[in-house]
Amino acid sequence: MVIYFGPAGLGPVKTATERLEEYHKLGLKACEIAFTYGVYIHNEKDAEEIGKTAKKLDINLSIHAPYWINLNSEEKKKVEESKKRILDCCKIGEVLQADVVVFHPGYYGKMKEEETYENIKNAILEIQKEIKKHNWKIKIAPETMGKVNVFGSIEQIAKLVEETNCSFCIDFAHVLAREKKVDYEKIRSLFKPEKWHCHFSGIVYSEKGERHHIKTPKEKWKELLDNLPKNKDIIIINESPDMINDSVDGLKMWKG
Ligand SMILES: [Zn+2]
Repeated sequence: MVIYFGPAGLGPVKTATERLEEYHKLGLKACEIAFTYGVYIHNEKDAEEIGKTAKKLDINLSIHAPYWINLNSEEKKKVEESKKRILDCCKIGEVLQADVVVFHPGYYGKMKEEETYENIKNAILEIQKEIKKHNWKIKIAPETMGKVNVFGSIEQIAKLVEETNCSFCIDFAHVLAREKKVDYEKIRSLFKPEKWHCHFSGIVYSEKGERHHIKTPKEKWKELLDNLPKNKDIIIINESPDMINDSVDGLKMWKG
């Protein structure tokens, strides 16, 4: 088993190389580029350069798609815009040689669970068709969500993986906020693929679920590392406000 640790951010294009070198020096082998407020790497030359540097330094790149995505909107136009946002990430992600584009799949709105599931599944299949058409290798990864009333339970995401062969992002902080506990055994049995993409951090939550991410408590790191499956390749992106130091903490603890 290998675990790759890294932060949820690369920062601006002009300092990307330095940042990657800094991560490498710390022993980190993953980095998620945050396009959460929009795709900010526009120039393909820049993307190529960043991708090459990451490969050279043995750092796995991934992308977090913009927050403004709802694959289950009642408005067709909003669904199309959401699909385009994910595909825009795939396009530049392919040049970056990123493995996955993580995204928040959508909301129930007035719809029932099954209808929401079907709509999101169909949108994923359509996005995958486009990816295939372009011969891209990048995969899309719906994320487990932290709020109780939002689509994205571990069961829903696992079912999407089974039925569309998409990738996935298990956010363990979100799972805790949503279910008030983390049933590791259930998660291990639900997600069969060999490669896991995960998010992790400390979290503050209420009855309704996620409130905000906080620094990752050491005992939470230990709990996670003790309970991850032993036969997989796992990427853990840390999303705490102190994501670089927290990633290094996790790495040190894993190495023992
Ligand atoms: Zn996310």
